[in-house]
Amino acid sequence: MKSVDCSHVPESLDAPTPSSDGCTNCVALGRSDWVHLRLCQECGNVGCCDSSPLRHATAHFHDARHPLMRSFERREDWWWCYVEEVMFLVDGAPAAPSHSDQARILQDVQ
Ligand SMILES: [Zn+2]
Ligand SMILES: [Zn+2]
Ligand SMILES: [Zn+2]
Repeated sequence: MKSVDCSHVPESLDAPTPSSDGCTNCVALGRSDWVHLRLCQECGNVGCCDSSPLRHATAHFHDARHPLMRSFERREDWWWCYVEEVMFLVDGAPAAPSHSDQARILQDVQ
């Protein structure tokens, strides 16, 4: 495995089960105006990225202190560490799940 500048990569690279198909916190607030979604590698919390109005993925790091997240976008398998602030790829990691296109559509019609 290629070495990465992050000391938090777990032994098990399996992706956790996503908590939701959209940003968990935005959905709880009745919102669907996130830009992109991020998946917490430790607990599976789905949060919205820093380009989104409420930045719940970063908020989750501050609340839960879970340092690693992965993109929850289709065809993106990069990881991000909030502690070292590095983006990297992990060789051999199984593909992360991604949200369906339904998430926001369903929210919009509700
Ligand atoms: Zn790290
Ligand atoms: Zn959000
Ligand atoms: Zn977490």
